[in-house]
Amino acid sequence: MQVFGLVGNPVGHSLSPPMHEAAYDALGMDARYVTFEPSPERFEAALDGADALGVAGLNVTIPFKRDALELVDADPLAERIGAVNTIDFAGDTPRGYNTDAAGVSRSFARHDVSLDGTDAVVVGAGGAGRAAAFALADDGASVHVANRTASRATALADELNGDEATDRVATGGGLDSLDAAVPEADVLVNATSVGMESDETPVPSGLLHDGLAVLDAVYAPPDTRLLREAREAGATTIDGAWMLLYQGVVAFERWTGRDAPVDEMDAALRSRL
Ligand code: NAP
Repeated sequence: MQVFGLVGNPVGHSLSPPMHEAAYDALGMDARYVTFEPSPERFEAALDGADALGVAGLNVTIPFKRDALELVDADPLAERIGAVNTIDFAGDTPRGYNTDAAGVSRSFARHDVSLDGTDAVVVGAGGAGRAAAFALADDGASVHVANRTASRATALADELNGDEATDRVATGGGLDSLDAAVPEADVLVNATSVGMESDETPVPSGLLHDGLAVLDAVYAPPDTRLLREAREAGATTIDGAWMLLYQGVVAFERWTGRDAPVDEMDAALRSRL
């Protein structure tokens, strides 16, 4: 039997186990997906133990994504983003990847939204914001980052501008910079946690328009105030469950080398939201 899993703290409410186990069932794989919740000081020992015990692959979540970067052989995209959310133990040394970025790219692709040559706005400059900003830039978008703490947004824009892999110009600012950026934008990603615990939105509704495609990384609830207001403005809307689905799909494909049964994984995820 192959063992995959999620390591984080806390991991109690994760939707990854049913999503991945739906894939194993669909493909008749002898595999299980389990959750691990080590204390922060035992994280390195936990990774060593997983490797020694023959765990095939781990997803990594809060608060360990940055720590994981230091402990595995991380691929260039994970290095640029500064976070590992997927570890593959198959080789001689554990390899680290960031599939949140692919989660963003593939969510837009699934909705027939082409990113090349677009003007994109990312709200948020934390882990999800960094993954979204690099994904959009790599897909050919010019990125404006807006964040409550403006200095984090300008620092991220500086990183994008200094990044040899992208030649688009990035900008950054506080949340007030949304006033000028959103009316001109083709693509908007909410990568803040706003909308998760209360019916709030980080983007004033008057800025939304029918030329926008809006992805909200928040997946619980799936229909956030931002997405409702974007829909009312005539925008294309993509909920955070798509991003969650595709980061899992890409992790599954990386670990197994097989095409993921996307519809079965999607159904398992959405039935629990
Ligand atoms: P994080 O690293 O802690 O970053 C949080 C971000 O939200 C920061 O930019 C922070 O701004 C901003 N923020 C927090 N409270 C705010 C408020 N009241 N007003 C304005 N901005 C606020 O968290 P993360 O890992 O990036 O996660 C962010 C969201 O993305 C969460 O809801 C998470 O569930 C979601 N997410 C979804 C997926 C998916 O697959 N769908 C994957 C990853 C994350 P400051 O810098 O000013 O603090």
